[in-house]
This record gives sequence, C-alpha cells and structure tokens, in this order.
Amino acid sequence: MSKLARLIKDNIYKDYAPQELIQENVIQFKGWKCSAGTEGLFIDWGGEVWPATCVVQSRRHRLGSIYDDSPIELLDDYITCQAKTCPCLVEIYLPKYKNDPTSLVENLSGDVSLLDFDAIARASDHDRHRKYIMWAFGRKCNFSCSYCDDHSHSKDDNDLVTKTAIEKVTEYSDRFRQGKSLMWSFTGGEPTINPLFFDFVKLLHSKGDTVTVASNGSQHANYYAELSQYANINISVHFEYLKPSKLGKIVSTVIQNQPMWFGLNFMIMPGKLDKCIEYITELKKIPNFKERTNVHFDILRVKNTGVFEIYAAEELEIIKKLQSGDYD
Ligand code: SF4
Ligand code: SF4
Repeated sequence: MSKLARLIKDNIYKDYAPQELIQENVIQFKGWKCSAGTEGLFIDWGGEVWPATCVVQSRRHRLGSIYDDSPIELLDDYITCQAKTCPCLVEIYLPKYKNDPTSLVENLSGDVSLLDFDAIARASDHDRHRKYIMWAFGRKCNFSCSYCDDHSHSKDDNDLVTKTAIEKVTEYSDRFRQGKSLMWSFTGGEPTINPLFFDFVKLLHSKGDTVTVASNGSQHANYYAELSQYANINISVHFEYLKPSKLGKIVSTVIQNQPMWFGLNFMIMPGKLDKCIEYITELKKIPNFKERTNVHFDILRVKNTGVFEIYAAEELEIIKKLQSGDYD
C-alpha cells in the first residue's frame, strides 16, 4: 500500500497509507479546514460539479453544472468539513488541518501517531505538484452488474457526456489548474464507450496531465493497448460480464506494449472466490503478468448503500492473503 497521506504534528511528519487511516477509523475531520474544491474536484454522473464526493447533494457546495450556460464557480479558500467521515481514498489525503493553517508545515520526519495529528498533507512529490479532478464520465454503461448503484449506470444515450460539456470542462480546468498539472481520474458508467473519450484523453495527455481510467474491460484488447500510451488503465473485473479468456487477452496485449501503468481490480462478490481463482489461474499463464500488473482485490458494498456485503470469515482470510500479493 502506498504511503500517500502525510500526518503532521508540531512540524514533525510521518507517512501512512490512506487505507491504514480507514482501518484504524481515523477519517473523521468534521470542523477541520479542507482543500476540497481548491486542490481537488468531483464531477458526478449527472454533470454536477462539487468540491468533493462528501458534499454531493449539498446545495451550498454546488459549484455548477457541465450541461448549462452558467459558469462553474472557482473556490479560492479551504472549506469547513461537515461530513461524519471522509468517504473517498483520494480525499483522505487532500491537504487539511484542524485549527491552524501553519500546522500544515512539515519539517522533520519522526514519530506521529495515527491517533494524534493536526494536519494532513500529500506525501508523494508527484501528488504535491498537481491538483486532481475525478469525473464520473456519464452514466451510460454496457454492463448491468447486479451490485451497481442505480444512480451510477444506465443504458440511455442521453447519459453520454456531450462535446459541449467536454469543452466547458476543458476551459474550466485550465482556470482551476492555476499553472499546475492535473491528475484526472475517470470512472462511469463506462467512460470508454463514449466515442469522444479517447481524443479527450489524448488532449489532456498533450497538456502534460496525468490520466487514470477505470474501465470494465469491454473494449478490444488493442483499444486498451493504445489507450495505455496516454493513460494509466485500471480494469475493474466484474465476474458477471468479463470472461477470464477476454481478460487474459487484454492483459497480455497491454503489458507487451509497455503501458504507463496497468492495474486490475477484482470485484469479489460474496461466495464467488472460486471465480476469482479462475481468473488468476488464467492470468498466471501470461509471461511477466505479476511483474507488470498492479492487482487489487475489493470487497463490495450492498447495492445503493454504503454498507459492506457480509463475507464468511474464511473468505475474508483468503481475500486478505490475495491483497497481500500472495496468489501463487
Ligand atoms: S469529508 Fe474529506 S474531502 Fe470532504 S470536506 Fe471532509 S475532509 Fe474534506
Ligand atoms: S461496469 Fe461499473 S458502471 Fe457498469 S454496471 Fe458494472 S459496476 Fe456499474
């Protein structure tokens, strides 16, 4: 796990993985000042623009829409956190402080406890010099996974992001970046089914931005091989739709083409570990699979809720083993 969150106390800092903060349940920042909206943005499935995922539906924090003629607002100061918990891995390590902005200054590496810190900064140099935009690039998706929240997928062409909206976001992002590079993270729906998507990724790449695409693996292997020259690709492996042989073809084609970064996220449904093993067995036949692919194993939430599915203790034990990289 990458130690991307820098916890600071009295100018001393220590780096942790955001997942460690989640595991120890130290993700309550209510009343803190947070850089959501100035350092990061979220564009939701319906094209509404927000400082972060935690404030979606809070009219007070809505910055605008990508689908109307009104300008999208630019924030110039930290917002006050109102949420019970910080819901998103990337947002956990957005810069934030409890009382005093100077507590964000870090001088010396040392021992800072997960239970007593006054500020969080970004630990990686790559992140520190960039802002990010997370964009749920339209709801339209060609899969209908049984656990997918109703608001995040549809079969309707009206749920594809339009050319005008892409132009509006491009113009807005050039003001938002304030001279910095941007890290774009695209989810959906399924972003790659939009015929405008690939050229948009190329445009962002030409500006020196970093692009990460979460895709469901439904495109042709050559599409991903070419996209991987412009973007980091993370294939979410949905057991109900993606066949092990098709995934194997994608993986072998992409990793032969020296991708920028390539990963797989196995979406493990309760009771379906055998299916996961079937994929892994297929993938292990591919030369250099383990060296060139970043593999993660996710447990799922119950559809339309934030609550995790119930897994048997033995399943959780095996998932933990897989997560530690032990799948030989
Ligand atoms: S929940 Fe997280 S992202 Fe949202 S305001 Fe609070 S600290 Fe910031
Ligand atoms: S591929 Fe993703 S967006 Fe599409 S139905 Fe499955 S979980 Fe939902």
